[in-house]
Amino acid sequence: MRYISTRGSKEVQAKEAIYRGIAEDGGLYTPVSIPSLDTEEIKNIDSYANLAKYIFELYLTDFTKEEIADCIDRAYSRGRFDTKDIVGIKKLSPGLFALELWHGPTYAFKDVALQVLPHLLLKSMPSFYKQALILVATSGDTGKAALEGFKDVERTKIVVFYPSEGVSDVQKRQMTTQEGRNTFVAGIKGNFDDAQSGVKEIFTSKKCIDTIENLGFFFTSANSINFGRLLPQIVYYIWSYLVLLKAGDISEGEKINFVVPTGNFGNILAGFIAKLMGIPINKLIVASNINSVVADFVRTGLYDRRRKFYKTISPSMDILVASNLERLLYLVTRDSERVKKYMLDLKTEGYFKVEEEVLKDIQESFWGDFSTDDQTRNSIKTIYREYGYLVDPHSAVGFDVYTKYQKQTSDNTKTVVLQTANPYKFAKDVLNALFDGEYNNIDPFEALEILYAKTGVEVPEGIKSLLSKPILHPDVIEKDKMFDFILEKIRDN
Ligand SMILES: *Cc1c(COP(=O)(O)O)cnc(C)c1O
Repeated sequence: MRYISTRGSKEVQAKEAIYRGIAEDGGLYTPVSIPSLDTEEIKNIDSYANLAKYIFELYLTDFTKEEIADCIDRAYSRGRFDTKDIVGIKKLSPGLFALELWHGPTYAFKDVALQVLPHLLLKSMPSFYKQALILVATSGDTGKAALEGFKDVERTKIVVFYPSEGVSDVQKRQMTTQEGRNTFVAGIKGNFDDAQSGVKEIFTSKKCIDTIENLGFFFTSANSINFGRLLPQIVYYIWSYLVLLKAGDISEGEKINFVVPTGNFGNILAGFIAKLMGIPINKLIVASNINSVVADFVRTGLYDRRRKFYKTISPSMDILVASNLERLLYLVTRDSERVKKYMLDLKTEGYFKVEEEVLKDIQESFWGDFSTDDQTRNSIKTIYREYGYLVDPHSAVGFDVYTKYQKQTSDNTKTVVLQTANPYKFAKDVLNALFDGEYNNIDPFEALEILYAKTGVEVPEGIKSLLSKPILHPDVIEKDKMFDFILEKIRDN
């Protein structure tokens, strides 16, 4: 299998696509063709890890079988997930299922991919590089999941920058207590955009690149533009279909919907690829928060980022430029010149509009709507009342948008709602949603205990233990000192 940039530059093999992360022309590596699944054959696969191996072999044709097995085993067979089959599927009613993607070490869905990516990267890196240096700017979940994924992985070092006052208390604790010889974390005095643009500047500065190359490093990124992050996410869509089929909840070939809380469009794009591979999917439902740029696009064909940016209670979806949308545009048009034009319009004008027939193709597979913070809180409460099921704010956006979908379409297709974070990651917001703001003034760590006392839902061990862990990364630095921090850390260690 070869990979082509969405903006048309030369094709590469999987390993090169993975270690480069992004193509030289700024485009995203995408498979030149999507392999079809033999649905008879996959029915006999008995574990999540084995399904992952099977799917990876279709895409990573320049890896050996042993290399793939090693990556999967390291990620999925060493007790890092608290459930044997990596993800959980809960039946809430005969037609409604919750796909729990938060059973990994950091309790966010990003673990499913970020536990695998470091091993894929290690096997893809050319040997003339001593080490990969992974730089991450994070607004919360990605940073921690990347740190856990790369922790103590040989030939890698990871540096994470977060806005010192811009992440939740649980998220900050998760990062400042991070263990591992090769992990480095600093808060910066600034917001997420400052962290992000600082990292981008370092990535593209000739001086920075030369400096670290002289020390034997090369820069790479762990964010969802890397195909190595997309691939592991395809697996759980296929797994869900197989689990429902085996349980008799659907019949052979029966179509299902997936509702996906969406930010950067990485997760839902993996679902689209599963559909192209032959999994019977009716609609992929984009669930946005009030930063509804993607849901609006799916409804109108106009992608318009010229709008106000809102901070919400589902912060991992506070995004105005959804980078993986570029892959969707390429997959539906297979026309890199057109994709280039859309992206140029977005950069220079702040918007682009797709043609009527492109929109029609997208709407064949996608539907979208959004949820305000008040509607999200309501949704947390309703889902708990109706099903006794506790959901985090991101996943609650999913349930709320699904209700809107049903009202507007009367579609009764069986539906799986993706659960992207454990509710205890956002315990204070969840607690206040359930009790109408009664606990607005409490300490965020106290919220864990109260939420447990009120619901009986267990607090995950890794969150409970955060308060007793030593702070290993106390640094808070000026935003123009990021590269100095990196140099200091990679020189000393
Ligand atoms: C990252 C994240 C999302 C958004 O996923 P995308 O792949 O960026 O669309 C949703 N929910 C949570 C909890 C996340 O961490």
